[in-house]
Amino acid sequence: MGMSALQLYNTLTRRKQPFEPAKANTVRMYTCGPTVYDVVHVGNLRTFLFYDVLRRALQYKGFQMKHVMNITDVDDKTINGALQAGVPLPEYTAKYTEVFLADLEPMRVEPPEHLVRATEHIPQMVELTKTLLEKGHAYESGGSVYFNVASFPGYGKLSGKRPGTLSVSETHARIESDEYKDDVADFALWKAAKPDEPTWDSPWGPGRPGWFIECSVMAMTHLGETIDIHSGGTDLIFPHHENEIAQSEAATGKPFARFWVHPGFLLLNGQKISKSLGNIIVLKELLDDGHDPAAIRLALIATAHYRTQFNFTVESVKDAARGLGRIHDFMDRLEEALAAASADTEAAEESSLTAALAEAERNFDAAIDDDLNLPQALSHVFDLMRGANSAMADGTATRSELEQTRALMRKFDRIFAVFEHEKGTVDAEIEAKIRERDEARKERDFARADQIRDELASAGIVLEDGPTGTRWRRVGKRPGVI
Ligand code: AMP
Ligand code: ZN
Repeated sequence: MGMSALQLYNTLTRRKQPFEPAKANTVRMYTCGPTVYDVVHVGNLRTFLFYDVLRRALQYKGFQMKHVMNITDVDDKTINGALQAGVPLPEYTAKYTEVFLADLEPMRVEPPEHLVRATEHIPQMVELTKTLLEKGHAYESGGSVYFNVASFPGYGKLSGKRPGTLSVSETHARIESDEYKDDVADFALWKAAKPDEPTWDSPWGPGRPGWFIECSVMAMTHLGETIDIHSGGTDLIFPHHENEIAQSEAATGKPFARFWVHPGFLLLNGQKISKSLGNIIVLKELLDDGHDPAAIRLALIATAHYRTQFNFTVESVKDAARGLGRIHDFMDRLEEALAAASADTEAAEESSLTAALAEAERNFDAAIDDDLNLPQALSHVFDLMRGANSAMADGTATRSELEQTRALMRKFDRIFAVFEHEKGTVDAEIEAKIRERDEARKERDFARADQIRDELASAGIVLEDGPTGTRWRRVGKRPGVI
């Protein structure tokens, strides 16, 4: 029996294919990281959370990870940002790198094995450019070096865009036109210095690397000439990934990546996320509004399948929070049932829960194997909860079954990473509600204030208004879930 039944959709072959790493048990994966010129928005976060789900799922399947993610700390956007801010480029990018990493923490993103910076690989980028020149795939012009797209017959195999069929507007997406290029489709491997830009020495004079070569070099330096998985948002398929393939394969003569995996785009309130349109949300705003980071994570990873375009709204976070509340409630009830289960239930006969456990695990694994179908996998978590709830309610669940249920929930949570909870999260939700009620009272919206009080009361939370503000306490045996 093969170890893995995992099927991943491969953009290169345009179908789902069984995934196994090429070498032994270790997955060599490269994911295109952030360009550190600004705070990431929820759309970017969806992509970074997808990388995390992908690596967690691969580990769930029993593989080891060797995952490299880059930080793009030199390109047009970072250079312009630093110029406008009037600070040196390294200082500017260090700040946004830090902000980026700080956002990943509450999102429970596992750090990749290697987080690497473009500016730490400039000599290797110069080397690769030299190789491409030697092999006749590149030409020098005006102190810059360009890749000759026509020299690489495989060009277009990822995106379907063949040279000669490219319109000027397509090539302009993120490939600049300039008078030194022989063909519009050609792209810069090395860019001659412009005034005010940071530069590095090269055989072609001072300059800086092109954006595409950065990823090829960082991937091959740390993972070898052929990697197992390369991932990035769908906007990167062309030209970024197409160009990565061209320059890497032209240099090595070997396939660059076996699987190309592209998570879909996130819309915000039905529209493209765009700073210039003012349609943008960053994580901090959601957290400041009192949303639970675990609910934000769950909304982004499991509302929709990763390949579909998904429209993010605050409602999607609220929906996820409700689902999460049920899960946390269940985990608490399970703990209580375990604490109460006496030793004599140990010898008892198995209940319907044993079959429910086996079925949930089988279905969950099948959903993950089917190109990481997290919404489907989550529905099987709820199936298990329903099965366990009824066996707990009628008192037939044995201690061993309850223990197995807890173990299986924890196993599922190796991918979701939100089921385990501390009471603190629930407390934060209560406090957010109290703040909302204070606001309502200030605005003399007493109907809304009373509604919030009633909502909390029905969840077993009682409010006491006093001179120093509102205090709250739980009534009844168990905390309710909002
Ligand atoms: P950037 O910093 O612009 O290079 O983007 C970082 C990552 O976020 C890339 O993999 C992009 O493909 C991805 N990305 C950008 N916008 C969105 C969006 N609206 N939805 C999902 N992913 C996005
Ligand atoms: Zn990249």
